[in-house]
Amino acid sequence: KSLELLNAQRKLETKSLVYPKAFKFAIDTAKGATIRDVDGNYYIDWVAGIAVLNVGHNNPYVQQAVREQLDRYWHWMSEIPSETRIRFLRNLHSILPEGLRDRAKVMTTVTGADACEAAVALAKWITKKPVILAFEGAYHGVHQGIVMATAKTELQQYAGVPLVNVVRAPYPYPYRCPLPAKDAEDCGNAVLNYIDHLLSDPYTGIGEVGAILVEPIQGEGGYIVPPRNFLKGLREIADKHGILLIADEVQTGVGRTGRWWAVEHFGVTPDIMCISKAIGGGIPTSVITYRAEYDERLPEEAFHFGTYRANPLALAAGAAVIEYIQSRNLLDRTLQLGDYARRAFEDIAERYLIIGDVRGLGFMIGTELVKDKDTKEPGTELASEVRRRMFERGVLFHTCGHFGNVMRFMAPLVLTRRHLDEGIRIFEEVVRELSR
Ligand code: PMP
Repeated sequence: KSLELLNAQRKLETKSLVYPKAFKFAIDTAKGATIRDVDGNYYIDWVAGIAVLNVGHNNPYVQQAVREQLDRYWHWMSEIPSETRIRFLRNLHSILPEGLRDRAKVMTTVTGADACEAAVALAKWITKKPVILAFEGAYHGVHQGIVMATAKTELQQYAGVPLVNVVRAPYPYPYRCPLPAKDAEDCGNAVLNYIDHLLSDPYTGIGEVGAILVEPIQGEGGYIVPPRNFLKGLREIADKHGILLIADEVQTGVGRTGRWWAVEHFGVTPDIMCISKAIGGGIPTSVITYRAEYDERLPEEAFHFGTYRANPLALAAGAAVIEYIQSRNLLDRTLQLGDYARRAFEDIAERYLIIGDVRGLGFMIGTELVKDKDTKEPGTELASEVRRRMFERGVLFHTCGHFGNVMRFMAPLVLTRRHLDEGIRIFEEVVRELSR
């Protein structure tokens, strides 16, 4: 049945798809961290809809909230207040990083890309500087700036088009430091020095930088945890040069790393934060949150638009996601179980030559495959083979990274210990086979 549906899809939809090639099944139902396909096979889900279903598939508490909302209405003029909207906003404000809590405003958007665009537009509007500093290996979305075709000059101005120029700095990737460095900390410092130089030296010719846009742990780029000192250093550089720090928490946020926000692990408060994926519990929505004082400088109306912002079902789900994580103490569980999982991956890495590096926080763990531990030559085909064999044995385990050679563990935070152990056992089995 799965193959039938895959074939039907192939005829009807664009061929340019990613996931159906990696995981050849058609989904029927899902619960917690398990998925059932249309042929009755069960899978342990370590993908969570790409780090979206932090509280699990069909979470009963979220389902109840969405059902109640469905009975009332499921679309409105997206700015009109409601109890659902205020409950969501209150819950969200209560979990913001300490430096933003009670001092922030929220703007609703729809997708992760949308939030990042709003963040960049806001930074450009506030600083009046046209350039954004982003990182090698970064992923912030794929929008293109259609506002240029919209015939409203002020909307184009708010959106900051033409889309800002971007200058790129290396990301401190300790396992493959892009600059000469002795160790991880040194790698972080080398990158910080380079960024400081970029921003200080008038002869670099990069123009006026208004903000630094950073993933506190790099997601699509390879689940890369920066050295401890790095984000603090970025914060200092941003302050020194009078520019804004934007944290893209689209993938890292809402408890994924065992804290509400990854920046909290590093003791850093960003000026603007992008939030999406898990915040809607699987119903598309996103927000940015930013220092309240910027609000005074915004136009009275229409800074960021979109018909589907703040969908009521998503807001109901989002409010419930936050309450569920709080009531089940899921953050502590994620820290502890994530630590246990990382150590299990590290333990396997020590025993086989095809795993070069293991890193991560909470349920965001990268395991980097290499052809050879000494040369660190990326094991891109090895990673797709691990994915394929694990899929055949009932575990959904996806890849990412500059070279597509990083296995990324991003299971729902409600994954049972049994399904974690089972997946790790199967992972070791597959690694052993491929090490021969
Ligand atoms: N930022 C980050 C860090 C992401 O991981 C992603 C999606 N993987 C995005 C932005 C874009 O989100 P979306 O796909 O919802 O546009």
